[in-house]
Amino acid sequence: MDFSLTDEQRLIAATVREFVERELYPHEDEVERLDEVPGEIARAIRKKAIAAGLYAPNMPADLGGGGLDPVSLVLVERELGRASYGLQMLVERPSNILQACRGEQRERYLLPAIRGERHDCVAMTEPEAGSDVRSMTTAAERDGDTYVITGTKHFISHADVADFIILFAATGEEVTAHGPKKLISALLVDSASPGLAVHRGPPCVSNRGYHQCELVFTRCRVPVANRLGEEGRGFELLSQWLGATRLTVAATSVGRARRVLEAATQWAASRRQFGQPIGRFQGVGFQLADGATELEAAEMLTLRAAAKLDLGTMTDADAAMAKLYASEMLGRMTDVAVQIFGGMGLMSELPVERWWRDARVERIWDGTSEIQRHIIARSLLRPYGG
Ligand SMILES: Cc1cc2nc3c(=O)[nH]c(=O)nc-3n(C[C@H](O)[C@H](O)[C@H](O)COP(=O)(O)OP(=O)(O)OC[C@H]3O[C@@H](n4cnc5c(N)ncnc54)[C@H](O)[C@@H]3O)c2cc1C
Repeated sequence: MDFSLTDEQRLIAATVREFVERELYPHEDEVERLDEVPGEIARAIRKKAIAAGLYAPNMPADLGGGGLDPVSLVLVERELGRASYGLQMLVERPSNILQACRGEQRERYLLPAIRGERHDCVAMTEPEAGSDVRSMTTAAERDGDTYVITGTKHFISHADVADFIILFAATGEEVTAHGPKKLISALLVDSASPGLAVHRGPPCVSNRGYHQCELVFTRCRVPVANRLGEEGRGFELLSQWLGATRLTVAATSVGRARRVLEAATQWAASRRQFGQPIGRFQGVGFQLADGATELEAAEMLTLRAAAKLDLGTMTDADAAMAKLYASEMLGRMTDVAVQIFGGMGLMSELPVERWWRDARVERIWDGTSEIQRHIIARSLLRPYGG
């Protein structure tokens, strides 16, 4: 087994780290205070990311993307994950599923997304269909050359700034041995489409400046030509890229946890009580030691899954374990950091309380921890017919 990174992979990680520290960190406090990324800052960061060749690293090189291998992508996500979400998202990684664009879809959606001219968001979740996403009621009914969409999505990140939506909607039902099953299709919907209303959702405790929206479709018409892949096969299409997407949450959690550990360690080394640095007290030092150990484990799990993805051997359970462990590790790490900072850990003067709040969502989005455990448990039981 070879755990070493190539020179190129090390250079990629160092380049992204430098960009994050120089271009993103300086704006974090302002974004937090405003709950908004000011337009001129967003435009400047996007421009610099494009100039630095960091934009769309997950997209194929022959289409203008970075064409990075899965391990390099994890390194990019890890370094971007150090910074606040609202800012790091400006170094955009268009949704992987856009690679399914064909013909004119490429010109209208995929290529402009890679060039940074148009921005996408993904709409699956509904008020009554969260983890059980297949129970969605948003429906797209065929009417000649168009689909007529009716229904409501919520918690849709970034929809307030997205130019188009990758929408998952029911286009029918099939009868299976386990009862009726909804057939889901993926559709590209322009945000300005008549019949679509986008409202800002309630403020979220995590990731200020990165907003969730409600999308209300009222007989919204979309050409059939805007369907990604085959009708009723939207989830199958999605699953081709889902593993890579889950690894991004794991990698983000690892990067953020590293930053939190560094800050907590510096504090423990410099804050003195009872005549010595608090880190010398076993109760504090051991918390750092456990955090560092878990962080290493999460990073290895994530990189190993990425290496397997590169080889074509990554399973759903590999991605689920990385997402589960890394996001839960980040939760523990940020909690420990608050404790080590004491009262200062809860004051908005320092970023510690923000890291603690921001970490919470990683265990919920892209499949909750419980859903990841289901995936892992199923893979364990399957060989025994369970
Ligand atoms: C900040 C934020 C941004 C988001 N962005 C997007 C986005 O851009 N696009 C999008 O489509 N969605 C998005 N989501 C939605 C996100 O993916 C869902 O919140 C998530 O999948 C969980 O669904 P839910 O919130 O409805 O919770 P529920 O599914 O109602 O779950 C509630 C609780 O029940 C548990 N539970 C549910 N089923 C089971 C089970 N079978 N076994 C054990 N426990 C179970 C869950 O783990 C959870 O603890 C976002 C959510 C948040 C909070």
